[in-house]
Amino acid sequence: MSFVFNPPETVSVPVVGRAERFPVQRIYCVGRNYVEHAKEMGFTGREPPFFFIKPANTVVLALPGETAQLPYPTLTQDYQHEIEMVVAIGKGGKNIKAADAHKHIFGYAVGLDMTRRDLQGDMKKQGRPWCIGKAFDHSSPIGPITPVEQAGDVNHAEIWLQVNGQDRQRSDLSKLIWNVAETIEHLSTAWELQPGDLIYSGTPEGVKAVVKGNVLVGCVAGLGEIRLQVV
Ligand code: MN
Repeated sequence: MSFVFNPPETVSVPVVGRAERFPVQRIYCVGRNYVEHAKEMGFTGREPPFFFIKPANTVVLALPGETAQLPYPTLTQDYQHEIEMVVAIGKGGKNIKAADAHKHIFGYAVGLDMTRRDLQGDMKKQGRPWCIGKAFDHSSPIGPITPVEQAGDVNHAEIWLQVNGQDRQRSDLSKLIWNVAETIEHLSTAWELQPGDLIYSGTPEGVKAVVKGNVLVGCVAGLGEIRLQVV
């Protein structure tokens, strides 16, 4: 087969303990999935989960022992971090029941749903799509994917983010409004999940702006740490 130009390389993420990499298909993100974060965004209560999508090529790899570079994006004065646990789908499917969700999960990773909050806010006010606030270049940092067998209990795991050594976000995955299995159940009614899909499961409270030079260190217990510097 020939193309009118060379197609881009497949975006992929390293897998802990394996030479093979995880090829990324789509990136789904869950909005407002912790009560305290919903409150800080001006909402309350348990609403049905909602989703947005980022292109696969927004991934920024944060490799163990390294400080990844995170380019400060254009157009924003309010570039915010959202630490999130990421679910990596290994087997596709639609209308997946929560009780069967585990059969579709390859592994988990630590990720950041970076956000141009000012632009997202403008779009919300105008009832327009969030793309410009969420789905911009370099907006999806992620660490290596830990296969489920090695990941421990991610439904009860601490999640935290520090900026320049100071706590910004600290919570526990047990506080997710919609847990991983319930999220997969809802998501798979709207899209047929495919192997390679990533699901950013939502961020706890404490989202705040970062500026050039800031060093972000994020962690989910059992999944390691990621480290990035805004440049
Ligand atoms: Mn988010």
